[in-house]
Amino acid sequence: MNRRRRVYEGKAKVLYEGPEPGTLIQHFKDDATAFNAKKHALIEGKGVLNNRISEIIFQRLGEIGVPTHFIKRINMREQLIREVEIIPLEVVVRNIAAGSLATRLGLEEGTALPRSIIEFYYKDDKLNDPMVSEEHITAFGWAAPGEIEELMSLALRINDFLIGLFLGIGIRLVDFKVEFGRMWENENMRIVLADEISPDCCRLWDMTSGEKLDKDRFRRDLGGMLEAYQEVAKRLGVLNENRPPKGAGPVLVASNGTGKQS
Ligand code: UDP
Repeated sequence: MNRRRRVYEGKAKVLYEGPEPGTLIQHFKDDATAFNAKKHALIEGKGVLNNRISEIIFQRLGEIGVPTHFIKRINMREQLIREVEIIPLEVVVRNIAAGSLATRLGLEEGTALPRSIIEFYYKDDKLNDPMVSEEHITAFGWAAPGEIEELMSLALRINDFLIGLFLGIGIRLVDFKVEFGRMWENENMRIVLADEISPDCCRLWDMTSGEKLDKDRFRRDLGGMLEAYQEVAKRLGVLNENRPPKGAGPVLVASNGTGKQS
């Protein structure tokens, strides 16, 4: 029986109280949603894949000095994270025109942008996460001007790193969304990367075939979503080809502190 206190439930994840104060457990569900949850399906095994993909990306970002909420993976579907105060903004970084940008500006999908572009969206499902400017963010107090600068510089560092990481495995990083939180250490506050980075929140195109390896497979009814996520996991080296993840979970694995499955 699950006795843990549920702190928050979102569309693709649940947060439970963690074992120590200031920690939480982030549980990845199999739910796939799009268009503000108007479209919904269960993709068995997606949560397991996103947990592993996000784990390796957060670990690698941590290694290059990007502060994150990630502590360690606990089992196939869950990771231990630091509790942060989420900044109510979705920070989107784009390298190639696609999705809402292509529609809004009448650009052909696939057009390389003159430079990486950062956009902010206010996190509010009731309002459909509207795009906002720095003026809105500071006027309404969602983040201070210095914090916006920090968000932008972190977002660009993450973009540079991810472009290279994916390039190395034959994938073009078209765009992605990240979220940040505030974490206090005594009197000091730092901004850290929170939430997840997975094919649910990135656009990833195979470099040779152009095939979509991300949530657009679900949004656009292309089929093969799980297979695409498996392909990303496999190329990142987090999936043993001979052992596809079981959908039924959570499956407990011994935590040996190395982040590797025992
Ligand atoms: N994105 C996301 N969550 C959202 C909206 C967008 O993770 O609520 C990601 C999306 O997967 C893509 C990028 O942010 O990688 C840019 O999305 P876009 O604005 O083009 O929106 P969409 O076309 O998905 O509505």
